[in-house]
Amino acid sequence: MDVAVCGGGNAALCAAIAARRAGASVVLLERAPAYVRGGNTRHTRDIRLAHDEPNAAATGSYAEEELLDDLLRVTAGETNRPLAELTIRESKSLASWMSEQGVHWQKPLKGTLHLARTNGFFLGGGKNLVNTYYDTVERLGVRVVYETSVVGFELRERAVQAVVYERAGAVERLRCGAVIVAAGGFEADVDWLKEYWGDAAGQFRIRGTPYNTGLALKALYEAGAKRIGDPRGLHCIAVDARAPKFDGGIVTRIDAIPFGIAVGADGARFYDEGEDLWPKRYAIWGKLIAELPGQAAYAIFDRKSIGGFIPSVYRPLCAQSIEELALVLDLEPGALVRTVTAFNDAIRPGGTFQPGSLDDCRTEGLAIPKSHWARPIDTPPYYGYPLRPGVTFTYLGVEVDAGARVIDADGRGFDNVFAAGECMAGNILSRGYLAGFGLTIGTVFGRIAGESAAAHVRA
Ligand SMILES: Cc1cc2nc3c(=O)[nH]c(=O)nc-3n(C[C@H](O)[C@H](O)[C@H](O)COP(=O)(O)OP(=O)(O)OC[C@H]3O[C@@H](n4cnc5c(N)ncnc54)[C@H](O)[C@@H]3O)c2cc1C
Repeated sequence: MDVAVCGGGNAALCAAIAARRAGASVVLLERAPAYVRGGNTRHTRDIRLAHDEPNAAATGSYAEEELLDDLLRVTAGETNRPLAELTIRESKSLASWMSEQGVHWQKPLKGTLHLARTNGFFLGGGKNLVNTYYDTVERLGVRVVYETSVVGFELRERAVQAVVYERAGAVERLRCGAVIVAAGGFEADVDWLKEYWGDAAGQFRIRGTPYNTGLALKALYEAGAKRIGDPRGLHCIAVDARAPKFDGGIVTRIDAIPFGIAVGADGARFYDEGEDLWPKRYAIWGKLIAELPGQAAYAIFDRKSIGGFIPSVYRPLCAQSIEELALVLDLEPGALVRTVTAFNDAIRPGGTFQPGSLDDCRTEGLAIPKSHWARPIDTPPYYGYPLRPGVTFTYLGVEVDAGARVIDADGRGFDNVFAAGECMAGNILSRGYLAGFGLTIGTVFGRIAGESAAAHVRA
């Protein structure tokens, strides 16, 4: 076999398409069974694309410079600038390339955080994207093997000779001319997370696939690949505590926090719920909750806020008084009543509540202020969501060059090892997040990795 692709999500599929279209024979090894194939890509909805004029995917224009500025802002400048610029430049051709692979576009859904200009929404969401790409790779003649976990690489000098994989309890090897690793991060390995987060990680909900345990990433490190990214780095948001341990996806996200208050298990507030617009702040709440005792928090609001935010799949718990709500949520009633009373009393009179902008509704005199959207919690029924940290992905990965070639600890490239997607995204997105940019990096580097691997085996 010319090219072995490890993984079965967006980056792997784009790599397989590109390698096959460039003339290589390709096998794709997906750890998951077919019915849950596609990794975290199954949960996605949109991809960020630079463009000079409206296209099938997005409205208006979004210049390369503007996207770069957005990236530099969220990463505080910590990015591999040439790779970032390459990704952004290449993103301009993705809408038409994706269409060529069978992807269709749709208008952005309501409640998608104002992304119509910057992001393209693919019809049918991530599951359809994944199914479309699988149809395409199979039509092109890529051999897809499910329930196959890549666990190692046999190396000679700087070249992989064979991929080692586990399938149906047996360990086997597959000889190949080049390998592309696109097997996501390690967010589903809770023991690995505990190395950096301690026992707190035991309470985390993993929003995506249980198959991203970093086995292939570990195998790359064992082969000598250079690490990139903060091992403790996570994209982590507030999700409903009733969410399943894995694969809850987007519907478990709780967006109620700016509409009321958030308290810990002691019934006390712990952070400014109105610090900034929610799209700019939602991604800090997972880590805030991860730092609390028991990793438990509660979003508290009243009837006025129902209908104001995107509902989650779970109904909020409900009661006619704050005392009763505390009992329903298993909080100490006196503590929650004191917190709500102090909050209500501290609200500056006369503000005009405007959820879409930084309004003038704020508290005064509290040790932890609420800077915007502060309205008294005084209208029954009262509601509460139990919250836990929900991990989207990890940032730790391997260093690559502009050809998606994996770099080793000495700073030299492997001859025939390439990486794409979440396992190398840390080169560009070292921290922070730009909605839809995970897919941008995975699609751009998937294509590059596929072309590089095919060029290597043809040389
Ligand atoms: C709920 C949720 C919503 C998201 N929404 C968006 C969005 O709208 N836009 C966006 O850009 N990003 C979004 N993301 C982030 C997004 O998932 C990623 O950026 C992107 O899909 C990652 O693609 P990937 O191919 O690198 O990894 P994945 O899609 O996770 O694929 C990894 C693949 O590797 C396989 N695998 C793992 N280990 C092995 C192994 N040892 N051997 C073989 N196969 C293995 C897995 O089974 C899986 O198929 C979201 C994430 C989540 C969790």
